[in-house]
Amino acid sequence: MTTDHTPMWKNLGLDIEAHDALLSVLGQAYGDIYLAQENRPEGMGYFDFVMSEVHGQRIQELVDAQAAGRKVIGCYCVFVPEEISLAAEAIQVGLCSGADFAMDEVEKYLPRNTCALIKSSLGFKLAKVCPYLECSDLVVGENTCDGKKKAYENLGTLADNLYVMDLPQVKSDEGRALLKAEFIRYKEAVEALTGNTIDVAALKKGIAIVNNKRKAMARLAALRHNPVLPISGLDALIANQVFFYDDPVRFTDAVNALCDELETRIAEKTTVVADGTPRILVSGCPMAVPNWKLPAVIETSGAVIVAEESCVGERGCRNLTDDSADDLDGLMDALVDRYLAIDCAIFTPNTERSGHIKELAEKSKADGVIQYTLNFCQPYAMEAIPLEKELEETGLPTLRIETDYSQEDMGQLKTRVEAFVELLK
Ligand code: SF4
Ligand code: SF4
Repeated sequence: MTTDHTPMWKNLGLDIEAHDALLSVLGQAYGDIYLAQENRPEGMGYFDFVMSEVHGQRIQELVDAQAAGRKVIGCYCVFVPEEISLAAEAIQVGLCSGADFAMDEVEKYLPRNTCALIKSSLGFKLAKVCPYLECSDLVVGENTCDGKKKAYENLGTLADNLYVMDLPQVKSDEGRALLKAEFIRYKEAVEALTGNTIDVAALKKGIAIVNNKRKAMARLAALRHNPVLPISGLDALIANQVFFYDDPVRFTDAVNALCDELETRIAEKTTVVADGTPRILVSGCPMAVPNWKLPAVIETSGAVIVAEESCVGERGCRNLTDDSADDLDGLMDALVDRYLAIDCAIFTPNTERSGHIKELAEKSKADGVIQYTLNFCQPYAMEAIPLEKELEETGLPTLRIETDYSQEDMGQLKTRVEAFVELLK
């Protein structure tokens, strides 16, 4: 028997009618795109269940945890250190921004030429359709791109629990000092929120939980490098998206169980694609739930995605935190080192990103790279042009796609992707 979560959603202040509409679109899209795939690993059943209960059972868990005294922290960017949140016994969740909602209302606050991700984050707030946002005790924004920075000024007028983390734009000594100061300020804010003091043991525990989660994702990523491809890019994307919502220990176990199955599939040569299917690396802007548009187009156009150079993917999961220090300052330094290695396009210069893409393309045996940029995202659009030249000099064909969350350009997108796939064959 399925539980009726409506009373819980009402308590959170959701607009039930708008929320029902969102869930119905989400469920339909998941069925059409995900459940329609053939020969999926059995381990994906866990992720299908999580997605079916993403606004239900998981929210109930968060509400129950709050009743037991824990706090929930929502965040928009992979720069917010979950290790610190967990060290204070808080639960950190991602605030997905992967669908257009209440766009007329959004455009009363933001210019039309704002990226879809930012518009979506404000739309979910204005329309009251995101239970993660509404149940968060603290919402963390971050000063990354200009669009986000300015949008948080608007969000701050709508949410009284917004905390903004400043971030460096340059990876200099001064930039590193700023990030460390901001992580210390965040630690103090989380301690004040939860009433829990973070000591060495607590921070080591938080680091271990997140390192294990990242190790499991690295294992999944490496299995996709095998010529016998045991999982589709769409399914791997769902694991990367669920990474931000699920209980971290349970999630880690589920990913490791999936990886065990994928190892067996590889040994038995069970693959999801025919021999010779072009292998694609997707690189660029993050894809938040339920933004499955481009991956669905790619994987229904005769190609398969073998890696994501994205914050919902390798860029967000790569690199562990060194937990060997025996004092808080040393552990905070290790966290700063780990997070400062993220090669987001908001940094200038951001030269290491192209090296990472080439390395990932080689490891994943990609035949081509599709650079994915959301319309009006200047940081990733600006990097796309020199990146294209650099990748093509190494013999890697690339395709630049700029799109948004609407379905209006689906025909054009499909035509361009199909032509690219033909070129790779
Ligand atoms: S692309 Fe940059 S701003 Fe966006 S989530 Fe990643 S690190 Fe944060
Ligand atoms: S996709 Fe680009 S413009 Fe949009 S939030 Fe990310 S960095 Fe900013």
